Amino acid sequence: MRVYNFSPGPSVLPLPVLERAAAEMTDTNGTGQSVMEMSHRSKDFKPIIEKTEALLRELMGIPENYRVLFLQGGAYTQFSMVPLNLAAGETPGKGKQAVIIDTGIWADKAAKEASKYAAVDVRASSKDRAYTYIPKAPASKPEDAYYHITLNNTIVGTKWTDIPDTGSVPLVSDISSCILSEPLDVSRFGILYAGAQKNLGPAGTTIVIIRDDLIGRAPQWVPVMLRYDTHAAEGSMFNTPPCYGIYMMGLVLEWLKNLGGVEAIAKINREKAGLFYQYLDSSKLFFSPVEKPFRSLMNIPFIIRTEDPEKKSELEERFIKEAAAAGLVNLAGHRLVGGMRASFYNAMPVEGVRALLHFIKNFENGNA
Ligand SMILES: *Cc1c(COP(=O)(O)O)cnc(C)c1O
Repeated sequence: MRVYNFSPGPSVLPLPVLERAAAEMTDTNGTGQSVMEMSHRSKDFKPIIEKTEALLRELMGIPENYRVLFLQGGAYTQFSMVPLNLAAGETPGKGKQAVIIDTGIWADKAAKEASKYAAVDVRASSKDRAYTYIPKAPASKPEDAYYHITLNNTIVGTKWTDIPDTGSVPLVSDISSCILSEPLDVSRFGILYAGAQKNLGPAGTTIVIIRDDLIGRAPQWVPVMLRYDTHAAEGSMFNTPPCYGIYMMGLVLEWLKNLGGVEAIAKINREKAGLFYQYLDSSKLFFSPVEKPFRSLMNIPFIIRTEDPEKKSELEERFIKEAAAAGLVNLAGHRLVGGMRASFYNAMPVEGVRALLHFIKNFENGNA
């Protein structure tokens, strides 16, 4: 039996995508091979990567002057690649200024990694109120090499609603947990990056969308695999790309297109999150710690209202256990923040959210 999987990542995939992948596992497109067995340079694989890129471009409205790169290493590797390519100096350790807006644990990791290659300026932070809001974005300065925001904060459950205007300073964003969840104006950004395992497919592929003029800026000492110019020059075929992950992403994008694209999924995502926040805001047992204007559509942490830490952990434990027994899995909060968290990525159907609401209301009634 399939469960409703609320995991923050890797996460739920659309059932029709999994079924199609299963049906094509041993013979894809009449080639007599699994995608896993194909040479990445073969005529069999070429249409697969081309289709995936074309669908991503179409669905996101990616302008002509941006390249799409299919890389490995996860979003985390981009915490290094962005500063290495945009801010690193001619000698290691003497980097330019990189701005990071600190909106949570992932942004903080991006800052820590960037500080090895750049002079990091954490120009604003929401740490003072446990990252429950998005700070006002301070202005960019002419000496900034790039300006980094984390568009959706997976762990704390916040999202940026106004994209900062950074003028000629390239705006860079980690969109790992919100890519294709709502319309996004790509032209506002210099670089967008995302690990695939939340909204795009299985883990193993990292998408980088980069404006042409930002390619080729890495100093000579930067390792070949960590340079955008390496991968751009070879169409993501400098070495073996994550072929099967790219194929799966293509199937997910096809599913999304058939559903009506980003506008259509955004409507569904707003409905799903709206239903759950509405419940949390009226509940006597649970609450959302996130300030209303900044609430994520994708990741919704929720906490038990009690001053008694023992009662809290007892109820949390029982909630997660009983939910799992009811087929609602992966609802534990991040190990660093505790509580519970439900992730409603694109592939989570409205019925899954309704099933969770049914369970949580019963749980509240039984523990009032
Ligand atoms: C999951 C996540 C990451 C980490 O991604 P990896 O692919 O595991 O490196 C980074 N940033 C955000 C916002 C995430 O949600």
